[in-house]
Amino acid sequence: MDFKSIKEIKTHLLKRKISIFELNEFFIDKIKKSKINAFIFFDEDLIRKRCKELDSIKNDLPLKGIPIGVKDLFCTKGIKTTAGSKILQNFVPTYESFVTNKLNNSGSVMIGKTNLDEFAMGSSTTTSYYGNTINPIATDKNLVPGGSSGGSAAAVSANLCLGATGTDTGGSIRQPASFCGVVGIKPTYGLCSRWGIIAFASSLDQAGIFSNNVEDASILLKEIAGYDKNDSTSSDITIPNYFKKINENIEGKVIGIPKEYDLPNIPDEIKIVWEKARKKLEKGGAKIINISLKHTKYALPTYYIIAPAEASSNLARYDGVRYGYRSKSQNNLEEMYESTRSEGFGNEVKRRILIGTYVLSAGYYDAYYIKAQKVRKLISNDFNDAFKECDAILTPTTPSPAFQIGQKEDDPIKMYLNDIFTVPASLAGIPGISIPFGKSKDNLPLGIQILSKHFNEQVLFDLGLFLEKNNE
Ligand code: GLN
Repeated sequence: MDFKSIKEIKTHLLKRKISIFELNEFFIDKIKKSKINAFIFFDEDLIRKRCKELDSIKNDLPLKGIPIGVKDLFCTKGIKTTAGSKILQNFVPTYESFVTNKLNNSGSVMIGKTNLDEFAMGSSTTTSYYGNTINPIATDKNLVPGGSSGGSAAAVSANLCLGATGTDTGGSIRQPASFCGVVGIKPTYGLCSRWGIIAFASSLDQAGIFSNNVEDASILLKEIAGYDKNDSTSSDITIPNYFKKINENIEGKVIGIPKEYDLPNIPDEIKIVWEKARKKLEKGGAKIINISLKHTKYALPTYYIIAPAEASSNLARYDGVRYGYRSKSQNNLEEMYESTRSEGFGNEVKRRILIGTYVLSAGYYDAYYIKAQKVRKLISNDFNDAFKECDAILTPTTPSPAFQIGQKEDDPIKMYLNDIFTVPASLAGIPGISIPFGKSKDNLPLGIQILSKHFNEQVLFDLGLFLEKNNE
């Protein structure tokens, strides 16, 4: 029995070929033996307790017994939630996030909380206070799993769970999915409630899914999506049954290839795979057209103004007063704030707070923050125009395969360049999926990204399934 597909495992569970206990013991054992540091929190007794509880429920549930990893950015009631930061090392939420609550109601088993870059800021999972995660694809090569949801991507890739949640603010689901050779979907902004997700940049943060295959992603997304009155940006739409509707017949679909993504310094191995995917889609009956997304080159600088600005505001609450870490050195209130924040936050988080505070400060607000908001609108308009001509857009997910741990640590700009293909969609709030497609010259996984207009996740699954089945 292969423990990789939720769709298959569900039928095995229903036919009683395997029990919920046996299934989860398999994963407990694998996690205990694994050496990639994918989890910040893991409690086998809690898992067994949950299995018992599920076993006593007579009726079927959509994810009954399915082990799911949860990025440690989602608040879990009674279970430590750290955001990968020292400042939240002892934080135990008194409530459950919307997404994990939905997963629990669907009968899934929360197998553990996965590692991430501190406060989801990063592309490598090396900024976590709890140590870095190792990409399981080639452990001898010491590669990053990507980030910020690197623990989730690595856990699914190493078969330590059947699916995992992630969050994607500028690429944190799609980029690690690409590096670890798994499927990762960032849905439309507003499809999944942000309630109970520790905030990074609220106008961009969006929950999503990692899985071993496209069909599983379509099953899982339905379970975490939905309207929530506690999130004012949550959309009140009917969530389609993506899995039931999935259709790999792509005949007549129009796919746009944006010329601005064809950058001169992108390695050939990336361009070759992009070209290959294009050809496959064409052979499958899709029509390929060239499109232009004129403002693409401004996306990265725009993102690195807006995201830190929002982060600096969101992170102001960590002051050592009500919860989280509090510094021992505290002669007066101001000193307590200062030392708590300087001891509690890591360097990358501090850098973002500094940039964010700067671009929001009185003298620079118009020149940076307001300007960035205007450019964001232009980027969004580019996509709206493009979707008048095509059903979906095809691009590489990342400008390189997974890189070595420590490789880009000394130069934040190099790290930020990882997001070059993922941030435009984040700024526009449109959905994107990364599908493992092709290999690098060193035989590392690469991802191909498909984007579509708001709330058209279905076309991502349809095209994704086609590419998954036509990837050799
Ligand atoms: N790598 C990007 C950043 O550091 C994206 C992070 C994310 O999507 N959470 O901001």
